[in-house]
Amino acid sequence: MNTDPLTPVLTKRWLSPQSWRISTYEKLEGYTAFRKALAGTPEQLVQLIKDAGLRGRGGAGFPAGVKWSFMPQNEEKPHYLVINADEGEPGTCKDIPLMMADPHSLIEGCIIAAYAMRSHHCFIYVRGEALHCIRRLNAAVREAYDAGYLGRNIIGSGFDLDITVHAGAGAYICGEETALLDSLEGRRGQPRLKPPFPAAAGLYAAPTTVNNVETIASVPFIVNGGADWFRQMGTEKSPGPKIYSISGHVERPGQYEAPLGTTLRELLELCGGMKDGIPLKFWTPGGSSTPLFTAEHLDVPLDFEGAAEAGSMLGTTAVQVFNETVSVPWAVMKWTQFYEHESCGKCTPCREGTYWLAQVLERMVEGRGTEEDIDTLLDVCDNILGRSFCALGDGAVSPITSGIKYFRDEFLALCQDARERNATVPELVGAQQ
Ligand code: NAD
Ligand code: SF4
Repeated sequence: MNTDPLTPVLTKRWLSPQSWRISTYEKLEGYTAFRKALAGTPEQLVQLIKDAGLRGRGGAGFPAGVKWSFMPQNEEKPHYLVINADEGEPGTCKDIPLMMADPHSLIEGCIIAAYAMRSHHCFIYVRGEALHCIRRLNAAVREAYDAGYLGRNIIGSGFDLDITVHAGAGAYICGEETALLDSLEGRRGQPRLKPPFPAAAGLYAAPTTVNNVETIASVPFIVNGGADWFRQMGTEKSPGPKIYSISGHVERPGQYEAPLGTTLRELLELCGGMKDGIPLKFWTPGGSSTPLFTAEHLDVPLDFEGAAEAGSMLGTTAVQVFNETVSVPWAVMKWTQFYEHESCGKCTPCREGTYWLAQVLERMVEGRGTEEDIDTLLDVCDNILGRSFCALGDGAVSPITSGIKYFRDEFLALCQDARERNATVPELVGAQQ
């Protein structure tokens, strides 16, 4: 929690005046870690990140050091580092605020990670709608070039690195790492078959590592603080601090940094509790692609293991909080409309399935549903889950299956209301005759 003397880490500069300027960053210990990193070897850095147990902050939690170690040791082909800054998961707002408040922590992390993976070109792929963020990053990259921290022979180390900030075009699927690579190559962004994973054949078929913004921004802190310091925060299998983005019916929505394993009950204390004291009904631990939790899950530790053991996923730690005034079928319908719209169309279960899920949910919410529609929804979900080409399909069914699991009565009530309304129509007609 923020009250822990070890945190904040990633957000510690955010409230400093002009925190995004290189001068502020340098005053607050910025650009000290990469000097240490460049004085060592790439192998030492990969080992450090493995020892720290840093896990991917984009949602899947894959160990970052292990991913880095997949990159070839030789430089027969160019190596690429690609930063996934296409933050698009509903409710997720941690990477864009991080890049706005402290872009140099990402840039310094890129220098260290690129050195560790023998890469001389890094792309930061930013969600296209976030124009303000693209401008800020471009300005920060220029400052880093001017300071001699990017370009040829960085601070006399012999290491060269260029960073290109690339604007996406606003498709959710381009947050999937291989669709992102296709988009970066100038093609329509659609997921590729894996394997080969990007480390074997990524951007331009060359060895590539795709990492999330928060993952790479954590790296300078680990280089300065060491693996043991990092492991003092969080849990054994999910160490370190994490930015939880809290939205919805809470008094003070926003980004809250706390160690992994913090519970919603503790996060609610940080953000002032439920808005106007209206009780909690349901919430997402990590965006709408993660199964819903209810008030029963207030004490679930929000780390990769804790969320999974309780039947959901940590995902992007986008905690969306809903109070008792919100209809679950309505919220589920809104998320499903989003997935239907964003389905890239490559595979049938997701392309057709999300369309039909949205149709059925819309008719239920509009009061035209039947009780059989609940089984139809579950049947379509069953035909998407594990049968679609990428994680979008699996994510799309999460709110529906978990919504029905915990709030079946609410779906049933909608259908029963509809049946009763329809049943009264002939009687009324009869009465008029
Ligand atoms: P994944 O588990 O397939 O992969 C995670 C990472 O590990 C990838 O970089 C992948 O290349 C690597 N990897 C996995 N297995 C590997 C292997 N055997 N060899 C080499 N590399 C391997 O997950 P994913 O599909 O990349 O991501 C799914 C997650 O994305 C979901 O959990 C969701 O929470 C999250 N998500 C995030 C956003 C966002 O806006 N940040 C949006 C949508 C989804
Ligand atoms: Fe495209 Fe959906 Fe299939 Fe993913 S699951 S490839 S988004 S159609």
